[in-house]
This record gives sequence, structure tokens and C-alpha cells, in this order.
Amino acid sequence: MSVTESDVLAALKRVRDPERGGDLVSLGMVQGVQVREGHVAFAIEVERERGPRLEPLRRAAEKAIEALPGVLSVSAVLTAEAPPQRQAPPQRPGRATPPAQPLVPGVRAIVAVASGKGGVGKSTTAANLALGLAAIGRTVGVLDADIYGPSMPRMLGISGRPRMIEGKRLAPLENYGIKCMSMGFLVDEETPMIWRGPMVMSALQQMLRDVEWGELDVMVVDLPPGTGDAQLTMAQQVPLAGAVIVSTPQDIALLDARKGLNMFRKVDVPVLGIVENMSYFLCPHCGQRSDIFSHGGARREAERLGVDFLGELPLDIAIRETSDGGRPIVVSDPASPHAKAYREIAERVWTKLAAAGRPAPRIVVQ
Ligand code: ADP
Repeated sequence: MSVTESDVLAALKRVRDPERGGDLVSLGMVQGVQVREGHVAFAIEVERERGPRLEPLRRAAEKAIEALPGVLSVSAVLTAEAPPQRQAPPQRPGRATPPAQPLVPGVRAIVAVASGKGGVGKSTTAANLALGLAAIGRTVGVLDADIYGPSMPRMLGISGRPRMIEGKRLAPLENYGIKCMSMGFLVDEETPMIWRGPMVMSALQQMLRDVEWGELDVMVVDLPPGTGDAQLTMAQQVPLAGAVIVSTPQDIALLDARKGLNMFRKVDVPVLGIVENMSYFLCPHCGQRSDIFSHGGARREAERLGVDFLGELPLDIAIRETSDGGRPIVVSDPASPHAKAYREIAERVWTKLAAAGRPAPRIVVQ
């Protein structure tokens, strides 16, 4: 039988904080429990000053989970968070005014790429969109905010650690003429990701504010998949000029994409449009096209919802191999119809940003 989140919480309820005299769960110290096929990860939030002496508590919590049947690995981390008042207050749905977010200096427009669920090609689209924007002459940065599964370093063929500038700012890494910052540069791919809630927010804030992005026309943000609270909060934390939703044509994915639209509407971020990915199948051998996923669903859905349709990409092994191999098709085969499709999507996105009154004019001091 596989272990569940409630098993984990029940076990942690038996672990006591010796200093505060209650159990970890009742004291609200357990954060971001993740359970995946027997692998468990969670964070224990403690006051900063107590952190150094609470290692035994962390170990006790890990031991309690290890003892559960079906658990294959446990990773508990101690975290200390900034006081809650430093965070933006949660915004209520339907509120008309956008949250007061300081813009990122030097960055003219920030665009999020989102999807209702994982595996629809959101990151592939984000990478090719960014490269498409660069191909049409824009200065582009990519912020990989998919903190649970950062894939931009791999897709953009970038590895290494960002350099520190003057001891406190990070220099983004670069390839194909675009700048990139990702959690993937700072942690090993194998490290379990427990960046949840406030931890995710501070990582995101750091990647926005403590990275030397320089002057950018567009920053493309690859959001984590899904439309839950975590994504909603992230969307609120970033001064977004707009969002691009990636969807496959299957109905279920569309259903999720619809939730995605609502999520951005709640936070007053304009949805620039929908990209239909894996729209149809192009046989690499005979070139025949098959509409295996009822092609056109996203276009119809976009029309129904009154949102623009930005373009479609087929399910094609060339797209998979190039993006997974760190040479997205826009740069590795710029003459291909797929690269052209991405450039056209980039063109539409840029036009919409300009039409929306954003990006703001850049002030150049000479
Ligand atoms: P997500 O970010 O939505 O989880 P990814 O961009 O990581 O999805 O894509 C998931 C997998 O599908 C990757 O291996 C990627 O290369 C592949 N993929 C994405 N789009 C296409 C496409 N149009 N044709 C073929 N493979 C694709």
C-alpha cells in the first residue's frame, strides 16, 4: 500500500517540538508535504534563531516517516521564513485593480507561459517562444519558475553555476543570445524540491530582483504546470504584462486550460492567447498528417472563450529531440515550418504586448 499525505501528517503529529511542547503538525510547523510513489519530502518551519539547534528534531521527523510502511525515501529540511507581513496580501477574486508590484528595472515586459497540467509542452513552448522573440530582434530573458521541475537549463543547453556579482547579485547564464535563470542552476537535478508556499515565493523574488538581467524587451517566465494556489500566488508576485496558455487539443487538457484562464483573470493579468501544442501528428517517415488528438480543440475553445489563438504546433519528434537535446528547433532548424510557427507566435505575442500599452518605453541615458 502506498503512503499518503495524511499518513505523513499523522506520523508527524507524534513528533514533538521539545522547546515549544506541542507536536509539529498542531504547531503548524509542517510545510509543503510532497508524497510521490513512496518518496516523501517536507519542510519544518522554525524561527530563524532556533534553526541551528533543531537538527535532532529534523532527524526525529525523518525517522518517524521512514518507519511508515511503503516509504522509500524521506527528505525533511528546516526552513526559516521571513515574517509574513513582508508578503503581498492575498488578492480576492474579482478585484479590479492590479496589485501594486514594483516592475523589474530594465525589463520592459514579463510574459508567463502556463498550462493546466504537466506534460503538454509548456517548457518546450516557453523555450521556443523566447528564441522566437530573439529571432525577431528582441532582447530576451527566460526565468524558469518551474521550481519543482526546472527544465530550461536542459532545453536551452545551459549548465554551470551562475556567477556572483559584487557578492550579492547573480549573473544569469546565457545561450543562443538569451539570458536565463533557473532554480536548476542552483540545485542538483536530484535534489528533492520542497520549495512550497513562501519558500517558492522567496526563490522567485530572488530570481526576479537579485539577478542582473540588464535591459530586456521581454522576460519569458516558465510557470510550474497547473492552476492551483501556488501558481496563482506566483502570478501575483510577478508584474506580468500577459500570459500565454499552452494546451493540447484533448478535452481534459482544455478543461484545465480554462481554469488557467480564470486564474489569470482573477489576478488581472491579460491572457494573450492559447497555443495548441501536439495539435496533430506529422509522420516523420511518410509526412502524412493525422489528427490523433482531435486537432483544433484549442482554436475552438479560444474562440468560445473570446481569447486569441496564437498558433499550433504538431506532435513531431523533431520538436521533442531538439528541445530535450538543448537545441530548440527555432535555433537548430530555423528554416523549418515549426520554427516559422514559433516565430509567428512570438510576433503575435510581441504585437499584443505593444498594443496593450506595455511594454513601457525604455529610457536610455546616454
Ligand atoms: P511541460 O513543460 O508542459 O511539462 P515539456 O515542454 O517538458 O512539457 O514537454 C514534455 C515532453 O514532450 C518533452 O519531452 C518535450 O520535448 C515533448 N514535446 C513538447 N512539445 C512537443 C511537440 N510539439 N512534439 C513532440 N514532442 C513534444
